[in-house]
Amino acid sequence: MANSRFEYVKSFEQPDVLLPNTWIVVRIDGRGFHKLSDHYAFKKPNDRRALDLMNAAAVEVMKDLPDLCIAYGVSDEFSFVFHPSCQLFERRNGKLVTTIVSTFTAHYIYKWSEYFPERPLLPPYLPSFDGRAVIYPNNRILRDYMSWRQVDCHINNLYNTTFWTMVLQGGMSNTDAEQELKGTVSADKNEILFKRFGINYNNELEIYKKGTVLYRQYKLEEAKPTKSPADEESPVEAKQSRSQQDKIRKLRRKAQVVIDHVDIIKDEFWEKRPWILS
Ligand code: ATP
Ligand code: ATP
Ligand code: MG
Ligand code: MG
Ligand code: MG
Ligand code: MG
Ligand code: MG
Repeated sequence: MANSRFEYVKSFEQPDVLLPNTWIVVRIDGRGFHKLSDHYAFKKPNDRRALDLMNAAAVEVMKDLPDLCIAYGVSDEFSFVFHPSCQLFERRNGKLVTTIVSTFTAHYIYKWSEYFPERPLLPPYLPSFDGRAVIYPNNRILRDYMSWRQVDCHINNLYNTTFWTMVLQGGMSNTDAEQELKGTVSADKNEILFKRFGINYNNELEIYKKGTVLYRQYKLEEAKPTKSPADEESPVEAKQSRSQQDKIRKLRRKAQVVIDHVDIIKDEFWEKRPWILS
């Protein structure tokens, strides 16, 4: 760029580099999806196609950005996790968030017609997403963050499943159902579903109860959890030298992104896939 007398305006830009060596979580959330989901007639409480579309867009984001090591999605939101060693955009907050948000939105809109062929997107009801970055200083707190989102998924889904069953199968009005559910705990909702409607909440689909976790599959998972020389390709033991970082990036790019609906609160998920946090 040529020098000019206008260039001083550049100095008004504020630095927004995120703290080094911390996990970066970028969480995006659909704007006004309550209204949007009504407009495009999402099924209540869970429209499977809408969730599959969210997941498909998120898989593309994972493929575009190999620095991401895991992502978790529920409803109209997705959390994308960058590894502490990530140097993408020199860890600039604005760059990271806007890149995730726009890449996700682009894929979401591009794939829309595949999932909702009978309901073309039409302004002013166009999907858009907001986003923010939060840093977490260690693995324990990152896992607590992930657990927080999954607990939220469970609580909301139990409520929504009970509410919509009372309305759609029980013929109750929205206000009556809401009134009756006020102050109830999980056990009460389970009982309403079972006693009144013969529904065992445990038998609901895992994608609704647990949300969606995306991660990269390495050979390690099929092998034993113990390390062996055959796992040379796994990034788990890699030291963070420049060339090895490049190697990890290449591996991440090649690795298959898996879509799973499992518990990420207990240790088991993480112990079986040690490369995710390493
Ligand atoms: P905001 O712009 O503040 O995020 P919002 O309307 O998007 O407002 P959220 O709290 O993000 O509010 O909630 C998203 C809403 O979108 C849900 O409450 C639900 O009504 C709807 N929704 C999202 N995904 C689905 C889905 N797969 N099936 C049915 N409804 C959905
Ligand atoms: P970065 O990801 O760092 O922004 P970039 O390749 O997008 O990298 P920019 O500095 O943003 O680089 O420059 C955008 C480039 O895109 C221009 O240099 C030009 O080559 C191309 N470009 C953008 N708009 C046009 C256009 N209307 N006609 C032709 N070329 C364009
Ligand atoms: Mg430019
Ligand atoms: Mg929001
Ligand atoms: Mg929203
Ligand atoms: Mg939301
Ligand atoms: Mg550019």
